Amino acid sequence: MLSPSQSAEENVLRPIPLADDLTEPYWSAAREGRLVIQRCTNCGNYQHPPRIYCSSCQEGALEFSAVSGEATVYSYSKVVEANTPGLKPPYAVIFAELVEQAGLWILSDCPGDFEIRVGDPLELSFQEIREGVVLPQFRPVGYQTLQ
Ligand SMILES: [Zn+2]
Repeated sequence: MLSPSQSAEENVLRPIPLADDLTEPYWSAAREGRLVIQRCTNCGNYQHPPRIYCSSCQEGALEFSAVSGEATVYSYSKVVEANTPGLKPPYAVIFAELVEQAGLWILSDCPGDFEIRVGDPLELSFQEIREGVVLPQFRPVGYQTLQ
């Protein structure tokens, strides 16, 4: 039940990812606090999000491989007005490049208003958004929200 000071909008839950056969290893690893990325056993190419064949050599020999969690900011967008159900601004959407391979990108969001620049180093964390639903997330090293 909503108190008089709460709006229905504040109680909207964030959309959750739905795992399928292709992505389940990624989400299972996240629940265990590990980041795994699909990798081709033929040519060694990493790719994300998962696909049924390698985007480099077109082979279907793929496995999930643990990565370091080290990344840098490739691009970002600060969000100051509510536009996604369940995500309360301010926050940043970060397009991160994993150190394992040039052009290996992963999307993340990070709550609050904070300093961020293209090229900044990022650190990995895991956010449980609902019971059993864990998102790998990135935030700037030394992350600190502005007052
Ligand atoms: Zn390949």
